Amino acid sequence: MADKRDYYEVLGVSKTASDSELKSAYRKLAKKYHPDVNPGDKEAETKFKEATEAYSVLSDAEKRKQYDQFGHAAFEQGGGGAGGFGGFDFNGADMGDIFGDLFGDLFGGGGRRRANNGPMKGANLRARVNITFEEAVFGCDKELEIVLKDECTTCHGTGAKPGTQPVTCPKCNGEGQIVYTQQSMFGMVRNVQTCPDCHGTGKIIKDKCSACRGTGYTSSRKKIQVSVPAGIDNGQSIRIRDKGEPGTNGGPRGDLLVEINVARHPIFQRQDMNIFSTAPITYAQAALGGEVRINTVDGEVSYEVKPGTQTDTRIRLKGKGVPSLRNKNIRGDHYVTLVVQVPTNLNEEAKEALRKFDEACGNKTSSGKKENTEKGEKKKKSFMEKIKETFEE
Ligand code: ZN
Repeated sequence: MADKRDYYEVLGVSKTASDSELKSAYRKLAKKYHPDVNPGDKEAETKFKEATEAYSVLSDAEKRKQYDQFGHAAFEQGGGGAGGFGGFDFNGADMGDIFGDLFGDLFGGGGRRRANNGPMKGANLRARVNITFEEAVFGCDKELEIVLKDECTTCHGTGAKPGTQPVTCPKCNGEGQIVYTQQSMFGMVRNVQTCPDCHGTGKIIKDKCSACRGTGYTSSRKKIQVSVPAGIDNGQSIRIRDKGEPGTNGGPRGDLLVEINVARHPIFQRQDMNIFSTAPITYAQAALGGEVRINTVDGEVSYEVKPGTQTDTRIRLKGKGVPSLRNKNIRGDHYVTLVVQVPTNLNEEAKEALRKFDEACGNKTSSGKKENTEKGEKKKKSFMEKIKETFEE
């Protein structure tokens, strides 16, 4: 106490400072050095206590008068009027909590978490299931193995050794929370803290159940059937009720949330309820029209290409898309982009046919000079037949 700083100096105010000046000076310091803002900082904690002490004295007209007269001696052991300015336990761990309330949400309401003794729903569990593109379109049943917590059958969830009972926590008298009420310079301060001894349960287990090590729960692997509905999309989750963590104080179990991971398909892409793909058609098919076979999720379907179909023409296969999650009888469409294939490995016969084709079309650019250099065998087939045969594999 010998090297105690002057209270006015601590707060950085003059000896004639008004109440509001004191208050504002203290608020500034408290904000800066509050333990909630400087966790673990001993120096800040000391400064905070120093400022609080100074303010608690100077904000009290009677104490201020005594201090002005006698200095620190007024409040030292046995000195001063009513036994100093007692009432603050500066060594107590509850300092931060007392002042947490004093400044309200200035400090984010620190230390004011409310303990919950009522029935609480258990936490949700999460799992992931991988399915194929087709399984997502048509739905499927999957089996999933998860580790599920259950009430311990030995202690029936109490966590206490059979024959013993959890006892009421003496620290909080079974309330699960501790209420601090203290006289401060701003009046009565009430603060609620979760009991550190029983962690809010209100009970203490002295003899722990050996089967569950006092947790009240045992874990086991369980197989869960997951019915994946037709139309589910990648990233969507299925909620399976009551397959999560057990509730507390008689609350219901949490849920199991199964996230669906749909594998990419080599030829189909999906956008909501529609499916997209490309399909190759030959040059002859494009020019002459005709039947093409197209892959859909329902299998191969036949489609009649119109003569003169250009490459990148998009056709719609109505109702060949993905079913609606709500009603699987409603389906999206399958859009197919027809891509005309330009042949590469042409044999002599095909080349000859192409030159003739070009000629027939009135294009004289390529045929003339090449006719001499390349001697293809000529077959007795009609021009059109040749073209078709060449381009259909
Ligand atoms: Zn047990």
